[in-house]
Amino acid sequence: MAGGQRRIQNLAPSEIALAPVFFNTEGRRRMRLETVDPAEVHLYTCGPTVYDHAHIGNLRTFVYEDLLRRTLRHLGYRVVQVMNLTDIDDKTIDRAAEAGMSLDDYTAPFIESFFRDLDRLHVERAEHYPRATEHVGEMIELVAALVTKGYAYKSEGSVFFRISEDDDYGRLSGIDLEQVRRGERVAADEYEKEDVRDFVLWKEAKPGEPAWDSPWGRGRPGWHLECSAMSMKYLGESFDIHCGGVDNIFPHHENEIAQSESATGKVFSRLWLHAEHLIVDGEKMSKSLGNQYTLQELLDRGLDARAIRFLFLTTHYRKKLNFSFAALEDAAATLKRVDEMRFRLEHASEARDETPEITQAIELMNARFTAGLADDLNVSKALASLFDLVKVVNIAIEESTLGRGDRQRIVDALETVDGVFGVLNPARWANDEASDELGAEEIEALIVERGSAREARDFARADEIRDELAAQGIILEDTPQGVRWKRQ
Ligand code: AMP
Ligand code: ZN
Repeated sequence: MAGGQRRIQNLAPSEIALAPVFFNTEGRRRMRLETVDPAEVHLYTCGPTVYDHAHIGNLRTFVYEDLLRRTLRHLGYRVVQVMNLTDIDDKTIDRAAEAGMSLDDYTAPFIESFFRDLDRLHVERAEHYPRATEHVGEMIELVAALVTKGYAYKSEGSVFFRISEDDDYGRLSGIDLEQVRRGERVAADEYEKEDVRDFVLWKEAKPGEPAWDSPWGRGRPGWHLECSAMSMKYLGESFDIHCGGVDNIFPHHENEIAQSESATGKVFSRLWLHAEHLIVDGEKMSKSLGNQYTLQELLDRGLDARAIRFLFLTTHYRKKLNFSFAALEDAAATLKRVDEMRFRLEHASEARDETPEITQAIELMNARFTAGLADDLNVSKALASLFDLVKVVNIAIEESTLGRGDRQRIVDALETVDGVFGVLNPARWANDEASDELGAEEIEALIVERGSAREARDFARADEIRDELAAQGIILEDTPQGVRWKRQ
């Protein structure tokens, strides 16, 4: 159904105000952010499906959402962010069954590794990380409301959303539903739908699958339902911004709108922001090409998490991010320019009484930095303002023209910028690798030692090493080519 009154203004592309302007996927228009609560942004970001480790594509999206969150705070808003953990869907169920494990036991290490990845990339924690399996009650309530209002119907033991009742279905993605002919049966397991376009809200339990009691019998929620139920629970029936990657636009977000607005009669999310995908060396990531990296795999190759975060930030979120080792080197070199300036600054003398030029350069940087970010997260503009300041400061250091207090002013300005980028201060990253976790070299040294112990028939020591590695989540596989290892 059509939502309530929209209160978002249309803007000309060149107009930038203090309230940020974003490109809204819905309507493909730039719009100024106008929040339900003037001082607070309620932000929903679709989270990981925890059937495996996150790949760097997922992490690109999570880092961009972190940039958005930090930018909103820089602009003066409080932020309440929710990111769901999809811990039940076809993939998690299938993988857990293959492994002969309960859903909870199977997903636990992937949830843990997701948070570890966020920490390593200095992604700030959201306020809430609700898990789908802990919100089935809320999802059942939502389905019940849709059934009562005639937007959903029961068929066999499942419940479907009735698309024919929703007159603006497709308004986010612009999909032409007439292309999918009414009544056409596309898949054998969809015979119970009234209309092929209808989507499942509640799935009847299959033997052996995790299931919950519901008014329609035992079953489990369809994937789209969780984001509607959990966003509305934590952020209200109408909230400000909903994010995800472009693959989420259809059907996931389209279905979220249909479910939520049909149940409440209110606008669900006011703005929809979608990140383009990360590709590797110009190609789509895929398991078969061997280019679907996890963060851990990159770190095991000796690559630097700080440079990875910086590389993710420097491509605008609505452009494809082409990941390559060369691009990562460039990112590291650019960061080094700021590090070097910071280092030289520490040792520079403040020879003059005062230097109004530095104060002016900082003010200009601050204004351009903020305006750049408020313009649909234009990181190029924001970074250009930073590097203009770096140039001015380098010249002042070379010519010994820094004035009293300039050093502190410059450090403070860098801190302001870093509140948003989270990558400019090397001291904040320095201790990250000093954790207890074993690096690739240490693991390999232990594997060699284990081999020697076995040859010497010192099986106690060999087993001890295997256990030590297992405690760190490292699994060993004996293959004809030698011992291979992987992280759980
Ligand atoms: P998933 O774990 O598949 O549910 O995805 C988690 C998040 O990562 C979602 O917001 C997706 O849109 C996003 N995503 C998936 N693949 C990519 C990719 N290649 N590049 C950027 N984001 C992605
Ligand atoms: Zn979602």
